[in-house]
Amino acid sequence: MVGWDGATWTLLDRYMAEGRMPNLKRVIQNGVKGTLMSTFPTVTLAAWTSIFTGVNPGKHGMIDFRVRMDGKFEIIQSNFRKVESLWKILTRNGKNVIVINDPVSYPPEAINGIMTTGMLTPHNSSNFIYPPSMREEVEKVADGYVCEPSFDFFETASKDRTGAYSTLEEFADKHARVALHLAKKFEWDILAPIFTSTDRLQHFYWNEPEYIRRHYVFLDGYLGEFMEIAAKNDADLLIASDHGFGAANKALYINTWLANNGYQRAKKGVLRSTLSKSGLTIYRMAEIAAKLHLSDLAYKTFRMLPQSVKQALPLESKESVQTDYDSSKAYSITYQGIYINDKLSGEEYERVRNSLMEQLYTLKDGNIKLVERIYKKEEVVWGPCEKMAPDLVIQPVDGYCLSTHMNPVEVDRFTDRGAVLTGNHRPDGIFVAYGPDMAEGLVIDNLMHTWDVAPTVMHILGLAVPNYMDGKVLRQIFKTSSDLHKQEVISYNAETQRIKKRLDSMRTKLGK
Ligand SMILES: [Zn+2]
Repeated sequence: MVGWDGATWTLLDRYMAEGRMPNLKRVIQNGVKGTLMSTFPTVTLAAWTSIFTGVNPGKHGMIDFRVRMDGKFEIIQSNFRKVESLWKILTRNGKNVIVINDPVSYPPEAINGIMTTGMLTPHNSSNFIYPPSMREEVEKVADGYVCEPSFDFFETASKDRTGAYSTLEEFADKHARVALHLAKKFEWDILAPIFTSTDRLQHFYWNEPEYIRRHYVFLDGYLGEFMEIAAKNDADLLIASDHGFGAANKALYINTWLANNGYQRAKKGVLRSTLSKSGLTIYRMAEIAAKLHLSDLAYKTFRMLPQSVKQALPLESKESVQTDYDSSKAYSITYQGIYINDKLSGEEYERVRNSLMEQLYTLKDGNIKLVERIYKKEEVVWGPCEKMAPDLVIQPVDGYCLSTHMNPVEVDRFTDRGAVLTGNHRPDGIFVAYGPDMAEGLVIDNLMHTWDVAPTVMHILGLAVPNYMDGKVLRQIFKTSSDLHKQEVISYNAETQRIKKRLDSMRTKLGK
């Protein structure tokens, strides 16, 4: 199973038509092509966790980069995950696993096989591999293993386009080399290299298609090698992305909008109080700047302010420093979600939520409507972790993204850590299946979900699917003549099995 983070058909269809991705073209002509619907919020950690657990974010808890826990906002960590990973389930069932660069796998789990961890790994940590005895070999094959490009990448990307691109290609090359090396040397039931270079590239290079094309041509070359390995092992090949991608040339600065509309209230800062003494708020200033089309000038002016003043401003800083959670009715802490003050309940909560939705749907940039769809929490997240999720999830139209940063104007260029971003996640990811058990030349129209992948993998490997999983085995991808198509999907009650196991171990301890 090959993962291409953020891969989207809008790009891949074009590259195949141009003859630039011959291996992917061959896979699709002789296999299955479909669209994998991402999670909402559409973020890498949530979506890959759903892919590798079989459940929606309300059950696994890795909902967003930051989540609400006991009235506070916490940065997500791997140990927030409430359900077992596919790797652990396969291990329990005696399967051999090789997984490379799973974005949500840190710290490495003790599995039956080899695992290297991905983007959650602390920078420069040597604890990125299980078993640790494999570290030296993997470091050698990769010529220095890298879990995630360092933050310097943001800076390089803004100055040296080709240099930053090369860093990403090298990053992907390391993962590919390690995956191929391990796949040839060890036995495996599943081999899963996940490439996240695609996502990082698309965020920064969306308007420079030559770089993106070059990278997919590069990955298509490796796909050819993975196809060879699959054929040699009589294995099926799956390709998946955690979400799609699209343009994001401008951002809706959601907290600025929330503040202007009386939902979000900022903590008082140095300049803010000075301004209010003079009867002018920062928002009023921004409004004036926007009306006079001075946003660029406003930007430049604010940039020239000393750091200490800038920090006191609700500007160019993460909103968390600025929002007064107690007095705000609603605010955003991650780019797609809005949280409503948890002191509001019942009718009042619904009233605030509905008026937010109504107002947001009318938002425009010139003639362009900004919001494509707004989801209420209960539509996209269900399960014990539902409380951690934002109350509303906003899907902007293609071309726009949301930002939590404060900004002089509500809609503006999209920047992060000094770098200009041009692309962002879209909900529709990719799904491909190819191999001895898979249907040939089939295009599936109905959407598949991220949480369908894990149960499908389990079925392919001849395992029963635990009934807590939200996903369904994607039966339509199998050839009608294949055993996988004929075989019933076996489901089992994981809870009963856990209790039985506990009883068994108690009996053993008691010597009965
Ligand atoms: Zn992603």
